[in-house]
Amino acid sequence: MLEKARELLQTYFGYPSFRIGQEQAISSVLQGNNTVCVMPTGGGKSIVYQIPALILPGTTLVVSPLISLMKDQVDTLHQLGIPAAFINSSLSPQEAAATMEEAVHGGYKLLYVAPERLESYEFQEMLNSIQIPLVAVDEAHCISQWGHDFRPSYLQIARLMDKLQDNTVVLALTATATPRVREDICDSLAIDSANSVLTGFERENLSFSVIKGQDRLAFLKDYVKKNHNEAGIIYAATRKTVDQLYEWLKKEGIDAVRYHAGMRDVDRASEQERFLKDQADVMVATSAFGMGIDKSNIRYVVHYQMPKNMESYYQEAGRAGRDGLQSECTMLYSPQDVQIQRFLIDQSSEQGRMSQELEKLQQMADYCHTESCLQAYILEYFGEEEAEPCGRCGNCTDTRTSVEVTKEAQMVLSCIIRMGQKFGKAITAAVLTGSRNKKVLDLGFNKLSTYGILKEHSAKQVTELIEFLISTNLIGVEHGAYPTIYVAPAGKEVLTGKQQVFRKEAVQIKQVSNDDPLFEELRQLRKSVAEAEHVPPFVIFSDSSLKDMCARLPQTE
Ligand code: ADP
Ligand code: MG
Ligand code: ZN
Repeated sequence: MLEKARELLQTYFGYPSFRIGQEQAISSVLQGNNTVCVMPTGGGKSIVYQIPALILPGTTLVVSPLISLMKDQVDTLHQLGIPAAFINSSLSPQEAAATMEEAVHGGYKLLYVAPERLESYEFQEMLNSIQIPLVAVDEAHCISQWGHDFRPSYLQIARLMDKLQDNTVVLALTATATPRVREDICDSLAIDSANSVLTGFERENLSFSVIKGQDRLAFLKDYVKKNHNEAGIIYAATRKTVDQLYEWLKKEGIDAVRYHAGMRDVDRASEQERFLKDQADVMVATSAFGMGIDKSNIRYVVHYQMPKNMESYYQEAGRAGRDGLQSECTMLYSPQDVQIQRFLIDQSSEQGRMSQELEKLQQMADYCHTESCLQAYILEYFGEEEAEPCGRCGNCTDTRTSVEVTKEAQMVLSCIIRMGQKFGKAITAAVLTGSRNKKVLDLGFNKLSTYGILKEHSAKQVTELIEFLISTNLIGVEHGAYPTIYVAPAGKEVLTGKQQVFRKEAVQIKQVSNDDPLFEELRQLRKSVAEAEHVPPFVIFSDSSLKDMCARLPQTE
């Protein structure tokens, strides 16, 4: 049957060979296995169900949440001479009835259906008199609470499967499956996880970078001008920002179009059309733009603000370079982005989903603060183990040398412990920099030995150091009513001197002087060791002469 699949790939679709993963997934489906297929956006998931649909008898059902996409897909199939149709809310009741009537007579190889339709009476009626060998669930992450786009209507798919013949195969397809989402998909659709086809998420032609601490508008202006005549997308978090950037780019003489949900449908459609037809260079948009568009020559995607999670980021950034040519994905990061996204999550999240969304937001922020390979970070986020550094992202090509910041890290970690591990970043930075902030004083934190030990730095620098330590998993974040920080297991290794910390963006402390409170603390520590009565669980050392002694301290984990 695989022979047949290859033949159809050439005769119907005109492609010489399968891409990675396609053949394996098709073969799994044709052997009658429930299968999950995880491939990056643009990886070619449609063919994975379209080819089996042509080979298997009867009609393949395709569940898809994207109404506009269904029409495009069906149009494309018609051009290829494949009988297909869709049922969704864009059809009148008469049209829907006529389509179902035709389906009952076996008129289609593929029938696309919106998930909300599955339990309608008419649809259920139709199921009784039609042969369905395969149900393809597109954008299958919608089934999981852990996905970035959970849709309750997707839960109906499991009930649908119960009603179909026992030998009906289910094929779940998605581009955004973290291990947890994948597990949910497999559980809900009775897929043996052994039948997972996962292809590399690496996009070798994309170079990722994060730009921090710069005037974003100035950066964007230079960037867009430098890349003029190339197609690019600029994503912003809010409609208002999209409008502002658009006006501003126009004023600069840049050929920009825009897209967001606040515009009239006709305007949106015409702006999209101009961009797709290469009549405009730059699309400025909210995340509403891009789902399902197939424009291959996008040379860059700039995120003017940080999105709410890695799934959204990789999906949006991944729209660059579908043609395989070198393309850039740049994020312009500012810490206030986290506040904005937090606010949006607060506004929109359902009860019970908040902590998941906040955890994802944290992982997104970690991406912005990490100094390791960005591509590797992405791959590991999506479940690859130990991804190799890419050698081309902003961090891999950062030529600054790393400096040791173990001491500074220990100061921060030890301060967190002294504060009881139940406060946020901002107040921790305030304590470390010796702020006279009312809350600091009210809580008596000015009496801590770590009060002011990083006073030669600004609160902003220290906050950034904390964020860096979060991104390297030395500090953990607890997402309660407001986020609090604690010392993670790896952070304890740093505190006890078993692990060093290096950073390119160094916050250097001055030489510790003899009258430094820290020094006094270490003297006390030495005393207590000498007296062998009390050994504090965490040790900070700030002076190499004390290193030996600290190394000899018993481990009291
Ligand atoms: P996905 O759903 O994974 O985002 P699509 O199914 O929309 O991706 O396919 C993306 C593009 O790749 C389409 O233009 C499609 O025609 C093309 N494509 C798919 N499979 C192949 C192949 N084997 N060889 C060449 N191009 C392919
Ligand atoms: Mg698709
Ligand atoms: Zn890299």
